[in-house]
Amino acid sequence: MIFAVMKIQTQKINSKLLKSKQVSLDIKRIDLIDPFISGNKWFKLKYNLIEAKKKKYGTILTFGGAYSNHIAATAYAARKHGFRSIGYIRGEKYNKLNPTLNFAVENGMLLHYLTRSDYKYINQSSFIDKLKEINGNFYLIPEGGTNNLALMGTEEIINHNDNHDFICTPVGTGGTILGIINKSLKNQRVIGFTSIKGNGDLINNISNCTNKNNFVLINDYVTGGYAKINRSLVDFINNFYLEYRIPLDAIYTGKMMFGLFDLISKDYFAKGSSILAIHTGGIQGNKGMSMRYKINLPIY
Ligand SMILES: *Cc1c(COP(=O)(O)O)cnc(C)c1O
Repeated sequence: MIFAVMKIQTQKINSKLLKSKQVSLDIKRIDLIDPFISGNKWFKLKYNLIEAKKKKYGTILTFGGAYSNHIAATAYAARKHGFRSIGYIRGEKYNKLNPTLNFAVENGMLLHYLTRSDYKYINQSSFIDKLKEINGNFYLIPEGGTNNLALMGTEEIINHNDNHDFICTPVGTGGTILGIINKSLKNQRVIGFTSIKGNGDLINNISNCTNKNNFVLINDYVTGGYAKINRSLVDFINNFYLEYRIPLDAIYTGKMMFGLFDLISKDYFAKGSSILAIHTGGIQGNKGMSMRYKINLPIY
């Protein structure tokens, strides 16, 4: 069976800060659900691949940046479930593939490259028609993997055991937080930590897709922009790994956890609050980010 459900581990974090603020923090390790189809991408791909199989598609086509967790996860999942895969990558081709793209190619993904100006058209149907002329028919998964079937999957990230006061998640396209919001209880608050600057549209898109309003987006921990890092973020990630043996990635989960600890220290949460943070995965990207910025980020 494609994407069989398994037990997901939730890990309690003990720290002086949490103790002194009388706040509890659990981390839901969906990053451990599969070594290669990491974290939230597992949930986003699940019903898409089930649908593609049902409709007898042979090829999956999708889009992403050069370090994209979605590209890595799609390449692996497609191969594992008997599909060919094609990835259109934003930006120019480098002679030496970075670890993410190398992994995608090793898993049989056929890579093409789109200039940044062409990449703007990837959601237009005329552009998709052109890709069908070139590649033959395919099952299309949008950039980042967010569509209605992805939401069906991300609604399975939390369940009735996750009855914390707050649920925190990193946010890219919003598909993950939407599934969590849809599944959350009225009295729970969902906090999204954004990874992309200047995303006024994002909150509207999310609001338009749900009739709940028990969520907030926090934009203060983007640290310069998507996939941009700074010294204090890298130090935080490495110290977090030393202390708890939980690797965080530099694009999503590291920024969320950095922001969450900062908010806790600034008394954002009332005494007695319970918090669940979703570890959405993304550790595959640490190899490439470490090479790109000449730093050492943790891996499993
Ligand atoms: C893709 C990704 C996200 C963002 O998910 P969206 O559904 O696009 O908001 C968050 N965390 C990790 C690790 C990711 O790979």
